[in-house]
Amino acid sequence: MLMWLGLFALISAVAVYFRMSLLLWSLMVAAGLIGMHYVPGVGAATLAVLWVIFAAVAIPLNFQLLRKNLISKPLFRGMANVMPSISQTEQEALDAGDVWWEGELFSGKPDFETIRSLPKPQLTQEEQAFLDGPVEELCRMSDDWKITHEDFDLSAEAWQFIKDKGFFAMIIPKEYGGLGYSALAHSEVVMKLGSRSGSTAVTVMVPNSLGPGKLLMHYGTQEQKDYYLPRLARGEDIPCFGLTGPDAGSDAGAMPDTGIVCYGSFEGKDDVLGVRLNWEKRYITLAPVATLLGIAFKLYDPDHLLSEVEDRGITLALVKRDTAGVEVGRRHFPANQSFMNGPIRGKDVFIPLEWIIGGEEYIGKGWSMLMECLTDGRAISLPALGTAASKMASRFTGSYARVRKQFRTPIGYFEGVEEVLAKIGGQAYAIESARLMVLSALDAGKVPSVISGIVKQQTMERMRQVVNNAMDIHGGHGICMGPNNFLCRGYQLIPVGITVEGANILTRTMIIFGQGTLRSHPYLLKEVAAFHNPDKQRGLKEFDKALFAHMGFVFSNIVRSFWMGITSARLLRTPGSKATEHYYRQLVRMSSAFALTTDSCLAVLGGSLKRKEKISGRLADVLSNMYVITAMLKHFENEGEPEEDVPLLRWACDDALLNIQTALKGVMTNMPIPLIGSLLNFLIFPLTKPYKGPDDRQGHAVARLLLSPTAARERLTRGIYASTDPNDATGRIDNALEYVLKTEKVEKRLREAMKTGQLSTASLTLYEDARAINIITDKEYELLKQTQAAVRNAIKVDEFSHTGWKVETPSTDTEYDEPSTTDSEELRVSGLQ
Ligand SMILES: Cc1cc2nc3c(=O)[nH]c(=O)nc-3n(C[C@H](O)[C@H](O)[C@H](O)COP(=O)(O)OP(=O)(O)OC[C@H]3O[C@@H](n4cnc5c(N)ncnc54)[C@H](O)[C@@H]3O)c2cc1C
Repeated sequence: MLMWLGLFALISAVAVYFRMSLLLWSLMVAAGLIGMHYVPGVGAATLAVLWVIFAAVAIPLNFQLLRKNLISKPLFRGMANVMPSISQTEQEALDAGDVWWEGELFSGKPDFETIRSLPKPQLTQEEQAFLDGPVEELCRMSDDWKITHEDFDLSAEAWQFIKDKGFFAMIIPKEYGGLGYSALAHSEVVMKLGSRSGSTAVTVMVPNSLGPGKLLMHYGTQEQKDYYLPRLARGEDIPCFGLTGPDAGSDAGAMPDTGIVCYGSFEGKDDVLGVRLNWEKRYITLAPVATLLGIAFKLYDPDHLLSEVEDRGITLALVKRDTAGVEVGRRHFPANQSFMNGPIRGKDVFIPLEWIIGGEEYIGKGWSMLMECLTDGRAISLPALGTAASKMASRFTGSYARVRKQFRTPIGYFEGVEEVLAKIGGQAYAIESARLMVLSALDAGKVPSVISGIVKQQTMERMRQVVNNAMDIHGGHGICMGPNNFLCRGYQLIPVGITVEGANILTRTMIIFGQGTLRSHPYLLKEVAAFHNPDKQRGLKEFDKALFAHMGFVFSNIVRSFWMGITSARLLRTPGSKATEHYYRQLVRMSSAFALTTDSCLAVLGGSLKRKEKISGRLADVLSNMYVITAMLKHFENEGEPEEDVPLLRWACDDALLNIQTALKGVMTNMPIPLIGSLLNFLIFPLTKPYKGPDDRQGHAVARLLLSPTAARERLTRGIYASTDPNDATGRIDNALEYVLKTEKVEKRLREAMKTGQLSTASLTLYEDARAINIITDKEYELLKQTQAAVRNAIKVDEFSHTGWKVETPSTDTEYDEPSTTDSEELRVSGLQ
């Protein structure tokens, strides 16, 4: 009997593994039972018991009326305390954007075609020309030290250039005089500017992100579009958008700013129907110089001049700077940056109704308008800045670690430094991949709101780690500020990226998983909607359907997780090559584990999961790291699977898998019912911990890629502004690296001569001694001296006068003159190149 029960359990497990329908499973088992009648030796009693068990399970499950009354109805009634409630603002956030790859990750069985069919990101010729022309030029014009330390503003020339060349109009369609660029081009522009000057990049990115331009394009009346968009495109109007205030930060929906519908005087006319606004906003980027203020407020109509409803909800309006009652112009000083940022206040500012974005039709829809527009902003501007910082750190920390020597050895060769360099390279690879994949989705017409949150949070968090690590390697060279320091302003900018457009803590704990589950879980939203359906009969029917599909889903994930756990997912058929297939398989495995853990948390915690942010934050980490792995696989394939990039891919994927494992184990350990946590652990990780993270050999390979201008490093850092000027903050480091690489062989010869005692290790005139005894030629001697000068130039830091922060170049360390160039042809002949 037990053997037969075991056999049917196996058939059932196979059926749920492959997610067969209930009916198909029932038919398979029934066929098996019929077949057993012809198996010699099976007793009638055994058959009868098996048929009874089968009927007890299959009949209620297959007949909706029966299961509805027996199972769904009592559950429907009993779940009032478990079902999460959804507030109006949450509902609007939920309705914004599309479900995309996160839906597949929640499914436990992702269809990789969703990603593999995305085209490779590609700039048009016009976009590339913009990057090579005006963007390069603006980078050259952006002296970040002058901007942030001397002028506290961009130069007048840079402001004019930005307006003239359409930098503020990248998202405005061509028909309105804008550039009409793709998300990719927009991101590449911000990234390149960000690699030069954070203040310039933020100045450019804000009008192209969430603000009047975007809101007008999506919701503006034709009249508003025709008037404002060309003005914004030409830079005649500078926009800003005010949502945040002293009493409404992350919870912006709680803003106390009001608009009262009333009659007032406007431009000499009395009795104009409009709105009297009172607001107090702070931290508003570009506000001090803005001519057009976008304002979010709550609209009330106490005299019922528009409708019977008094509280009309969050509404957005455009207010001209010179309107009576507007106070604008003061500045904040955010993290030592010098982009314009400040408070804006309005006292009894009367505006006509036509200034409401979208006109009367869009009154009260402000929150969903903001949510919809925030989506792609989150995915473009900040990730571009994060990528800029991580590419800069990878390239110039790699070069620096090669040219900077301690104990006669490049610091990048020490294992301790190598370990940190590997983290920089691996994380930079993850950041670049995360950025590019979401851009492909945006350019394919998707608005993936949860993924945007993931990309924002992940790129900012990883950027923080990369820049911190780079600071460690640069030591005093990164700390002492001045025109020669390319790193420290970026380091100071980190908290800005972390805080804006959805502060990271809240984005991780509330948005990614909270919204992610409700929107992307295959059944949860259906169950919640059915539960809240005012027609209770209909609601019960929908609930029953969703619930049973959900139960099948849970069983399937139990079987799938366990099977993939004991086989390490080796038997799965997934796409991929030698370098990638392991990660494709682990993604499927972790997707199933994630779906099962999510459902377990929902079952145990119900609606209170919303408040259990330590649990939801960990689940967000699982989802986010799965997104990042997918993005890296996609990026690797888009690049043509270059062999040299494999160490980067492996390091970053192994790191992300370890993050997933840590997060899942954290959920299991902290599950309010410990038995469920242990059960999950047994099902998901039956053979202890499968992911060990990147090993030392992988780290070594990644670090080595960064220590010289390898093809992998060039690909990794593509798109940043790389100066070739040996007196530039970064140009000097690359210049020194070039020399160091040229003298590598001669240096080796010198080291050998020291080992054999031909040269003294204590000599202060090593090169001269080596030349005197013909260990090096005159030409090699010259080259070594030039290298010495280039390295000295690369490691120098700025000095200031005692009384003020005016740069004083020390007399011994004058402006670096590129040594009269060594004839590279001759070097090759002498075997130095
Ligand atoms: C340089 C800069 C530029 C900006 N530009 C603009 C702009 O142009 N327009 C505009 O409207 N706003 C702008 N902002 C405002 C920005 O969006 C807010 O700073 C942000 O929303 C956070 O609000 P807060 O600073 O008041 O922090 P708070 O809301 O007080 O948050 C403090 C901390 O608490 C966390 N937190 C809050 N609630 C939760 C929760 N439920 N769960 C977990 N954690 C939570 C947050 O994650 C954060 O870490 C800008 C801010 C800065 C610093």
